Amino acid sequence: MQKPSLKIIILGSANALPDEQHDNTHLLLVSQQERILIDCPNNPYLRLQQVGSDPIQLTGLILTHFHPDHVSGLPTLLMNLWLRKRKAVLPVYGLESTLKLFEKLMALFDWEQWSERYPVELHPLADQTNQMVFRDQTVKILSSPVCHLIPTIGLRIQNLQSGQSLAYSCDSEPCHNVIELARGAKILIHEAAGEASGHSSPRQAGMVAKQAGVEELLLIHYPVFRQNAQDWVEQARQEFQGNIKLAQDGMEIVF
Ligand SMILES: [Zn+2]
Repeated sequence: MQKPSLKIIILGSANALPDEQHDNTHLLLVSQQERILIDCPNNPYLRLQQVGSDPIQLTGLILTHFHPDHVSGLPTLLMNLWLRKRKAVLPVYGLESTLKLFEKLMALFDWEQWSERYPVELHPLADQTNQMVFRDQTVKILSSPVCHLIPTIGLRIQNLQSGQSLAYSCDSEPCHNVIELARGAKILIHEAAGEASGHSSPRQAGMVAKQAGVEELLLIHYPVFRQNAQDWVEQARQEFQGNIKLAQDGMEIVF
């Protein structure tokens, strides 16, 4: 019998400056039971429909950090779900500091006054390694702090049936905790915004992939205005010999 697979759908692959083909970086995790949105920029209600997923079916939301290119779509998404008369609880996972800012943002829109709003359940995560974000029969999600400009988490998503894992650096410099999150994983999704404080070049992403011993590296959160996209992959290949791809919006990763 075939083992149930997990799927990540790339909803956006750009760094903080999107274009028509590349939205800001955010992901959707799909399992048999779950539809978990990872970060929430711009207009996720629209984006989810564009990849064939009804936003009303979202079962959770993970916020990696509180930069605008990762959370700016929160008020619209939450309002859209309310207008769709969602009744189910919406769990929201993130660092305590991130969730405090989330509540502050929503308070600007008086969301406590929205009549008959579905309940939103906050799940604060400690700023420590290997925190359990979510677990059911098929999937386990762990978070660890990574090396960015503000408190930020990276993720390890494990398919409990197949044993395969995928790690996501989120926004980070080359970081010990990312290497540990990705240790022995099948796929590492690593940011490649370019070498800068709190970010990584594609070559540095390749170094992290090599040290973690992953099979595949998917570069994300990259500058989309460059002419030659392929050079990003070539730079990563200087350090990492496994399979390397550049994430594109709409891409699906099964593991
Ligand atoms: Zn950021």
